[in-house]
Amino acid sequence: MRSTEEFAWVTLTTNDNYGLGALVLAHSLKRAGTAHQLAVLVTPTVSEAMRDRLKDVYNVVQEVNVLDSQDAANLALLARPELGVTFTKLHCWRLVQFEKCVFLDADTLVLKNCDELFEREELSAAPDVSWPDCFNSGVFVFTPSVDTFTKITEFAVQNGSFDGGDQGLLNQYFGDWATADIKKHLPFVYNVTAYASYCYLPAFKQFRDKIKILHFAGKLKPWLIQFNSQTKTAATPNEYAHAQDLIQHWWTIFCDNVHQSLTDNMCLCLNI
Ligand code: UDP
Ligand code: MN
Repeated sequence: MRSTEEFAWVTLTTNDNYGLGALVLAHSLKRAGTAHQLAVLVTPTVSEAMRDRLKDVYNVVQEVNVLDSQDAANLALLARPELGVTFTKLHCWRLVQFEKCVFLDADTLVLKNCDELFEREELSAAPDVSWPDCFNSGVFVFTPSVDTFTKITEFAVQNGSFDGGDQGLLNQYFGDWATADIKKHLPFVYNVTAYASYCYLPAFKQFRDKIKILHFAGKLKPWLIQFNSQTKTAATPNEYAHAQDLIQHWWTIFCDNVHQSLTDNMCLCLNI
């Protein structure tokens, strides 16, 4: 077994809202008993107060600059202009103090220990539900390297990204993912999209207990779902009717591990 300091889970937040996701994610990793380090990339737009909270749970809180794809036309196609900032993800390759990392979107929730992911090689990821010959870039195994960082950013400048975000770019750069090596295809349980319109419901029921990482991809993030602080229950939006217990799980971690550490002012600003 390698020294645990060589491996890290890495996420990213560019604002205090996604910061809430990053806090719940970190606690979900700890609950799952990970032996590895936790690192979060933050941009200058993340408040000092949020950075302090992130420092409570993350071993590394690394400030990075926003890399924007500046590809407004492509982003408009997706109607998700905020995804430009996901280019900022590329900074994860610069965390060269670690030998291997797993990137997790801040809107993911770890349900079971996944430390075995560090046995995989770059670039390992699970198929995207909408286009399974592409991988979903919400969960991926990578090897930090300044050389790779430079190559991907150069590639981005030359080729853009077919969806204007990091997923299109990374799928173009790691273009042989679909065909080259089956070991780089992570089982779907490592990145299960929770949103109903993407969901194959009978399979969701059948494999529900095997899910290791849930991904709240799409517009409706758990921190935007109405939560009743008296009854400690989350509302059930139609999109998540099949996954109410999992939304509730996100909020339970929030109540047990995160809420008391936030100042009143932060709660007010974040509307929670
Ligand atoms: N992200 C962020 N700020 C934003 C948008 C995205 O920090 O305004 C980061 C965050 O880690 C997020 C990831 O980029 O999880 C990818 O974006 P998102 O999860 O919203 O995309 P989706 O999975 O819904 O396609
Ligand atoms: Mn996501």
